[in-house]
Amino acid sequence: MATNGSNGATAPSINGTAYPVVEHSYDVVVVGAGGAGLRAVVGCSQAGLRTACVTKVFPTRSHTVAAQGGVAASLGNMGEDDWRWHMYDTVKGSDWLGDQDAIEYMVRNAPAAVYELEHWGVPFSRTEEGKIYQRPFGGMTTHFGKGIAQRTCAAADRTGHAMLHTMYGAALKHRAEFFVEYFALDLIMDGGACRGVIALKLDDGTLHAFRAHKTVLATGGYGRAYFSATSAHTCTGDGNAMVLRAGLPLQDMEFVQFHPTGIYGSGCLITEGSRGEGGYLVNASGERFMERYAPSAKDLASRDVVSRSMTIEIREGRGVGKNKDHIYLHLDHLDPAVLAERLPGISESAKIFAGVDVTREPIPVIPTVHYNMGGIPTNYHGEVLTKIDGNPDHVVPGLFAIGEAACVSVHGANRLGSNSLIDLVVFGRAAGARCAETTERGARHAALPKDAYEPALARLDRLRHASGSTPTAQLRLEMQKVMQSNCAVFRTGEVLAEGKTLIHQVWQAADDIRVSDRSLIWNSDLIETLEFDNLIAQATVTMEAAANRTESRGAHAREDHPDRDDANWMKHTLLWADPVKRTVTIDYRPVHTYTLSTDVEYIEPKKRVY
Ligand SMILES: Cc1cc2nc3c(=O)[nH]c(=O)nc-3n(C[C@H](O)[C@H](O)[C@H](O)COP(=O)(O)OP(=O)(O)OC[C@H]3O[C@@H](n4cnc5c(N)ncnc54)[C@H](O)[C@@H]3O)c2cc1C
Repeated sequence: MATNGSNGATAPSINGTAYPVVEHSYDVVVVGAGGAGLRAVVGCSQAGLRTACVTKVFPTRSHTVAAQGGVAASLGNMGEDDWRWHMYDTVKGSDWLGDQDAIEYMVRNAPAAVYELEHWGVPFSRTEEGKIYQRPFGGMTTHFGKGIAQRTCAAADRTGHAMLHTMYGAALKHRAEFFVEYFALDLIMDGGACRGVIALKLDDGTLHAFRAHKTVLATGGYGRAYFSATSAHTCTGDGNAMVLRAGLPLQDMEFVQFHPTGIYGSGCLITEGSRGEGGYLVNASGERFMERYAPSAKDLASRDVVSRSMTIEIREGRGVGKNKDHIYLHLDHLDPAVLAERLPGISESAKIFAGVDVTREPIPVIPTVHYNMGGIPTNYHGEVLTKIDGNPDHVVPGLFAIGEAACVSVHGANRLGSNSLIDLVVFGRAAGARCAETTERGARHAALPKDAYEPALARLDRLRHASGSTPTAQLRLEMQKVMQSNCAVFRTGEVLAEGKTLIHQVWQAADDIRVSDRSLIWNSDLIETLEFDNLIAQATVTMEAAANRTESRGAHAREDHPDRDDANWMKHTLLWADPVKRTVTIDYRPVHTYTLSTDVEYIEPKKRVY
């Protein structure tokens, strides 16, 4: 492993234990090597910045590898398209909570970002003329909602896999240095500015401080706060939790997207692309019920609408199976050659996880946690924001966030399918460009206060020696069950109030956590405990935010407040958490309803019509 950025060591001692810290100096440190992190790494290193990438898993194992359906860009390869239509769909999909300047930035830069991936070698599926193949996806329309767009560029049903491998190759071409299987613990903060990150090297237990002028968090989502999630077990939102511990807020955490089609039982994803290719959902009586809920978009209505419709069918006794608790997805009417060519991965997943041959039988599916719209608030350059002295757009010096960890916010209250992969590359590139613009290459790092590493090391030491009576796995299961039952697709004030009590109880119970393995080498007990500690803070702010927002918007559907309330709630929620007192503070930021250019008008909220 390259360590030529290393320039010495210090050895603070915590409770009598010495924790030697190896110090490294870079211009930029990127935490995370998923699609967002790798794109930023390429941008920074291409610009001549000395760049380190710290990642807890090998880059190509990041969750981006699992993305199936595709990446949205208005290329117009398979019918007319326009970035303005993509923008309209994204604002509408966000239920008017997305920041329209950031959305404009994303959709206008999307085609160039996809062509760049093509040139780097992403093996996109092709049309007969050899252009990039594009499929329809939920909520993607032409002519401002009038027609169905084919906007989602796909490499069969393995688009994320193709992108991640190609971008890792691109990153290796430049002089970025990878620190693989290093677990980032905490940000190094000094007077409100970020000065780098501290990490634990998993295979030998050494501690490393990465000093950097810019720290970019690209640590992904926190789906694992829930019991059933399509995301990898590594999706524990570590960057989000580091931000909370640094006294900075997270934004819009109440908005959690459920994907309509996780395989019943395992949660494994069946891409929306399967409905894009003609798949449809039925209830126990074989009815295509989406025709009732969304007469024009039907099975391709946006994810919140489909998830809620499925949940209503199940709640009203029309679910399939012995317990009438799931729904069937039919692909068996499609040409087996199309299934083999366009959806080979999900055909395999259905076989492995549901024992179903998709050419003959329907797949049992259920709404499953899929994406976190909330995260670290940023502007469209990827710079992290906080609210100070009434200024909701105060830039935190030295700190960036991109990808699913960030809330930029282009997805607002609900993300459209295929808009995350494009968010990764557009804002990964934007963050790289901003770092290049604002960083003096090779500048010396100013001295840090003597105790700059202590908060991170003290937390590590506390959890390493935790000697309570409750194993981490038990607390994690309790947290996941509370989130699954009290903060799911349907929400009421009563259920959320109970959820608040229950989730705070789990947070308090963490005082009694037990870690049995005290070593620092490949200690999965300790790492899972650090991840649980990260998850429980995020679960709590998610529950508090959901209880606080008394309206229905996007993925946040309150049965007791069924309407969107623009007069009172067209604003972002900001949440701070005090990890010692275990309290949550709530404030707000206005939604950016302005665009970057003058030729795009502000899109007025309209009543929901699907
Ligand atoms: C099954 C599935 C299918 C999807 N399909 C699509 C799709 O078709 N189209 C679409 O647009 N979106 C899709 N999404 C959403 C999209 O894939 C994700 O939102 C996106 O890939 C997240 O990318 P990321 O770079 O932000 O994070 P990730 O890819 O999750 O990567 C996170 C990185 O952070 C690192 N990391 C995390 N914590 C630490 C730590 N403490 N220390 C060091 N490193 C750390 C990890 O090692 C990893 O490298 C899908 C999601 C899932 C789960």
